[in-house]
Amino acid sequence: RRPAPVTARLEVIVGSMFSGKSEELIRRVKRARIARLQVQVFKPSLDDRYGSTRVASHDGGAVEAEPVGTAAQLLARVAPGTQVVAIDEVQFFGFEVVPACEALVESGRRVVCAGLDMDFRGEPFGPVPELMARAEEVTKLAAICVRCGQPASRTQRLIGGRPAHYEDPVILVGAEEVYEARCRHCHQVPG
Ligand code: ADP
Ligand code: ZN
Repeated sequence: RRPAPVTARLEVIVGSMFSGKSEELIRRVKRARIARLQVQVFKPSLDDRYGSTRVASHDGGAVEAEPVGTAAQLLARVAPGTQVVAIDEVQFFGFEVVPACEALVESGRRVVCAGLDMDFRGEPFGPVPELMARAEEVTKLAAICVRCGQPASRTQRLIGGRPAHYEDPVILVGAEEVYEARCRHCHQVPG
């Protein structure tokens, strides 16, 4: 059986933490491989939860991934025969990931990006909104709000058990920090 032809397009998977973005990315990667497409999976090297060479879902599923520091490094690592490029945690790349994804689609590839559409403050996260605007398909997933059980669109940041303030630095050293899925109503960002 010959590999299936690939449709050049940009797909974006967004949602809060725990909404199943990595799960959905892993599912699409596995299905592309079943179709015998040449697939490469990338992630930002700064995100090294679960080890640096895998994309892992909170549910336990995982696929091998190549860590890259920048969108330029990502482009340089894409092999000539690669038909599908999957990128997890795409919010951690700068805005240069937008032209990088566009160039990959322009060269005939299917690009699947997954990432947070909002930061812990509930504000649009880096390049993700622009990727959503340019995509052929956007999948917005919801987690379950840990407070009320409704669909959760937001990521609650807690520092020492209390809601993180708007001005709290994104990177904290030494503080006990956790993230929860919450709905709009239960999400708290004290000024
Ligand atoms: P994401 O990449 O969006 O952070 P993952 O794919 O890593 O999401 O994890 C999704 C999995 O997380 C779910 O299938 C479920 O098993 C688990 N999970 C834990 N907490 C929640 C929650 N509050 N809402 C939904 N799923 C949750
Ligand atoms: Zn809620």
